[in-house]
Amino acid sequence: MLGSKEITVYEEVNVFFDRAAERLGLEDGVREMLRRPWRELQVSVPIRTDEGDIKVYTGYRVQHNGARGPYKGGVRYHPLADQEEVRALASLMTWKNALVDIPFGGAKGGIQCDPRTMSEGELNRLTRRYTLQIEHLLGVNRDIPAPDLGTNSQTMAWMMDTYGQVHGYTPGVVTGKPVELGGSVGRDSATGRGAVYVLREAAKDLGISPDGARIVVQGFGQVGSWTVRLLGEMGCKVIGVSDVDGGIYNPNGIDVNALVQHKESCRTVSTFPNGDRVTNEELLELDCEFLVPAAIDKVIHRDNAPKVRARVVVEAANHPLTPEADEILNAAGVTVIPDILANAGGVIVSYFEWTQNFYQHQWDMERVNDELNKIMTRAYIAVKEKAASERITLREAAFLIGVGRVAKVAKMRGFI
Ligand code: GLU
Repeated sequence: MLGSKEITVYEEVNVFFDRAAERLGLEDGVREMLRRPWRELQVSVPIRTDEGDIKVYTGYRVQHNGARGPYKGGVRYHPLADQEEVRALASLMTWKNALVDIPFGGAKGGIQCDPRTMSEGELNRLTRRYTLQIEHLLGVNRDIPAPDLGTNSQTMAWMMDTYGQVHGYTPGVVTGKPVELGGSVGRDSATGRGAVYVLREAAKDLGISPDGARIVVQGFGQVGSWTVRLLGEMGCKVIGVSDVDGGIYNPNGIDVNALVQHKESCRTVSTFPNGDRVTNEELLELDCEFLVPAAIDKVIHRDNAPKVRARVVVEAANHPLTPEADEILNAAGVTVIPDILANAGGVIVSYFEWTQNFYQHQWDMERVNDELNKIMTRAYIAVKEKAASERITLREAAFLIGVGRVAKVAKMRGFI
């Protein structure tokens, strides 16, 4: 069991990194180099509010590692998106991109703000100013942002436009754009779809039939809502769903299409009439086959981990489990499909978008989903086989593969 001293989210991710580095026998200097971000930028982002005042936000872009290709990772708008969190998420992108074997390094950006309280005009001005502040770090072959929590395809359209004002038309400088501006079809559903593909594979291995399997999903943003929709199509029984306002529970299964409509008209799932209201904490403790945290980090920790009653946890969010929670669940025999595998679908389709932008071409939905399925399934099988041969957890196996690939390439480049 890890000590109970509070550690930062960046240090938490490095608990997983250090285990992989140890098993790989990496020398201390290499370990130190790979653990740390390569470059970090903190910027002030002043905007004029709708009331006419000037408000100054803090933004970040952290480029964690670029050994395998251009830096790649989302931009988060959230009150908790501070430097430590952005740094942690940047490192997760490095290991994720290496694990699924797409030619990118890892990065993350963020602005500490609450987009839910801001107008469209304020968000546009915020995004433009932030893009101008970090523009010298970006580029199709340098660093390619994408959406994350609190940002979406509109945010990417503003970023692309602002970057283009300085450098000329460059659609490939961001991914997750609207399809009309060079985005890829299937990018909005990609993270949820990828999570569903690995869930399907895990169900096969564990002998759980997806038909009627009980599922609980925390979060109903882009990732959670698509996960729920696609699981519904697969015949699973979605019994619990939540968003920031709270959740609902129905042991007989929630009518997924009606729920999606309710969210569209009422902007929350928590008031859906066909179920009992539960808090986000209660939701995580529901008895089910698959629990899918698809919201923010650290929602399962040492205090509530012993109460989790799922057979499998699929980490659609980034870092939803603390290392302590991870140990508790492993000891209890819960299978945990780690974030760097489970939520890689988003960046995989970002990769497809980036390649499509190079040759100004559009793939169709079938091709996108087919190639996504191939990459997700291949990564899942590699992780499963590594876990079995080394007698380690799926998370340890995923980090072992990701860290091993980055370490190998860093050495090949010969820059140290
Ligand atoms: N923000 C997503 C993630 O955490 C996608 C990143 C991307 O597409 O670059 O994986």
